[in-house]
Amino acid sequence: MDRLENNKYSPSSYKADERYLLTSKLMCCDCGALMVGEGGTSHSGKVYHYYKCVSDKKKHGCRRKSVRKNAIEELVMRKTVQSVFECNAMDSLVKHLMMWQAKENTAVSMQKP
Ligand SMILES: [Zn+2]
Repeated sequence: MDRLENNKYSPSSYKADERYLLTSKLMCCDCGALMVGEGGTSHSGKVYHYYKCVSDKKKHGCRRKSVRKNAIEELVMRKTVQSVFECNAMDSLVKHLMMWQAKENTAVSMQKP
């Protein structure tokens, strides 16, 4: 079996079809390493998606348990929306969006047809 064929069955092959929203944003609370998305199939054939500590994955000592993808993404989304609406972040967000929009309009008007 060549390497390409072998990779077809590795956990990372599930990444192609699944979007891991917290990639490069989620860090292990035990060791501080990034947590990366992975997928796997149980003995019953059910596919699971989760985030795993890179240090654990590379056998560098961390024993942090993996976290279910759906659970952690839903929690982060809920907390993010909550914080935007609870502290006056919406005013700041609108101000910044208006500034970015103004910059974009300027850039478009400077383009020659
Ligand atoms: Zn870790």
